[in-house]
Amino acid sequence: PIYMDNHATTRVDPRVVEAMFPYFTEQYGNAGSIGHAFGEAAREAVEQSRTVIASAIGAEPEEIVFTSGATESNNLAIRGVAERPKRRGDHLVSVQTEHKAVLDPLARLARRGYDVTLLEVEPHGSSRAGWLDRQRVADVLRDDTALVSVMLANNEIGVLQPIAEIAAICRERGVTFHCDATQAVGKLPVDVRTLGVDLMSFTAHKMYGPKGIGALYVRRTRPAVRLEAQITGGGQQDGLRSGTLNVAGIVGFAAALQLCTLELPAEIERLAKLRDRLWQLLRSRIDGAELCGPNLTGQAATGGPLRLPGNLDVAFGNVDGEALLLAMGNLAVSSGAACSSTDPSPSHVLLALGLTEDLARSTLRFGLGRFNTIAEVEAAAETVAAAVARLRELR
Ligand code: PLP
Repeated sequence: PIYMDNHATTRVDPRVVEAMFPYFTEQYGNAGSIGHAFGEAAREAVEQSRTVIASAIGAEPEEIVFTSGATESNNLAIRGVAERPKRRGDHLVSVQTEHKAVLDPLARLARRGYDVTLLEVEPHGSSRAGWLDRQRVADVLRDDTALVSVMLANNEIGVLQPIAEIAAICRERGVTFHCDATQAVGKLPVDVRTLGVDLMSFTAHKMYGPKGIGALYVRRTRPAVRLEAQITGGGQQDGLRSGTLNVAGIVGFAAALQLCTLELPAEIERLAKLRDRLWQLLRSRIDGAELCGPNLTGQAATGGPLRLPGNLDVAFGNVDGEALLLAMGNLAVSSGAACSSTDPSPSHVLLALGLTEDLARSTLRFGLGRFNTIAEVEAAAETVAAAVARLRELR
């Protein structure tokens, strides 16, 4: 089988597994235990990992809050700001193409009376499809805006948003800014000070680390961000997120991020080449294949790419993505037909770009990663082309 669904999750790198192992078998102490060596060793491992993770994103160790993943980090950021008794107001701003882990908490707050504005992005067919113009943010900020939340890299179409520019506007207006950087950390250089974000979510399992461990960066330098805790109990992590720390997970998270940082410049180039080759093969073999999201060669105004290097999203048209997935058996990718197995409607991201439901249902998302090779890219293109041809014949 060929795995090209690295936006969904990644294989844990064997070097990460090795780093985690002792924290299951020997150093199994609770990082909160005082007065014995087991607790001490666990605490030391957590604090060392915290330092590694913080420095990889340009933060200070005390600015990292460990969570169970980016879903929890997003919830803590959004509800944590919105539910502060002392806040600017009840207006919250985000984007139509955000992950459900941002949109759903916002929808719940809206049901409770908050005023939520979801911004539109550049439409399908434009060279910057999916991109958010910072002016759209500037136009909706109000005196009662408490929070703006914009993702760095989109998990379906890979578009990279102009986070530094948007954060600067928010800063000027005194609005707290949250960024869901889940798909970007470990894959691109990400520095919280350069970006100017106040809150930033990320997770280990998208960067060849384990599932179930993530983090929220919470700015401590002025203007420091104050959050309402969402999970309360033993008061761990300064009371911001109670619960026994996932020591092995945290060690794996740090090991994974460290490896990504080390290999990042070469990996960006390698993945972009693989991705470009995949698109070249698909478009030459399949009639009507359309790229979803921004141009592969598009540049941001500040230089740098407009799209995640390992991301490709293609609408084939005149074929059903779900059927395509089944027809391809040994190739693991995602379809734009269902963004989650429990929700049969087409991807809200593709609909927000203006794709018709039929076109959205005909898409496949390819997420290339560390363990993919050029031979796999060529085999995958072959498999997709054959499956599309077969299914179209049946129509
Ligand atoms: N945000 C984005 C952009 C994602 O791609 C994902 C992954 O599915 C999440 C949030 C949720 O992350 P987690 O699985 O760690 O909760």
